[in-house]
Amino acid sequence: MPIKKLRARPKKAKTAVLKKTAAVPVPAEEQKIRIGWFTFSCSEDNTVVMTEIMNDHWQEWKKMFDFRHVRMLKSHNILDALDIVFIEGAIASEEQAQKLKEIRQRSKLLVAVGACACVGLPAGQRNTFTEIQRAKIEHLVAKFAALPKVLKVAEVVSVDAEVPGCPMDPANFLRVVNQAVARVRAERRS
Ligand code: SF4
Repeated sequence: MPIKKLRARPKKAKTAVLKKTAAVPVPAEEQKIRIGWFTFSCSEDNTVVMTEIMNDHWQEWKKMFDFRHVRMLKSHNILDALDIVFIEGAIASEEQAQKLKEIRQRSKLLVAVGACACVGLPAGQRNTFTEIQRAKIEHLVAKFAALPKVLKVAEVVSVDAEVPGCPMDPANFLRVVNQAVARVRAERRS
């Protein structure tokens, strides 16, 4: 009977024991600033301007901002505690007013962006209609459960800063962003 050759058993590889290291907590001041961008009654010119501004600032902003609720950037958005929110557009219905109040409650700083958020026009042009003109749009006001008067953001909630005009001036927007960031950081330090 042939003798089977004995093969040397392969040595078991020593399993490396990985030491668990506790995550080092990031100091509050260095945590990313939580951003929200919300659009109400508006055709989103300033959303477009904002995305153009991102072409120049994305590398810097992705390190310092947590874009929590920004529909122009992603489809999965979270409405929770926010540091800075930007509101675009006028408020034309009770539903919008309630949503805006909820956003305000969750935000440290609120910035109204663009003509309609700041002054209510031109989105609120129906506010200036005559009786005859109003009668002609009555069915639409009812159909969309619209408020009798279109409101600027400051008529619904408190506003910390404004970027007027439409489209907004990018330099002015960046100045307001930098001021808001400085305020959030100062509050975190205090
Ligand atoms: S004019 Fe008003 S509705 Fe039109 S994009 Fe500007 S802010 Fe929005």
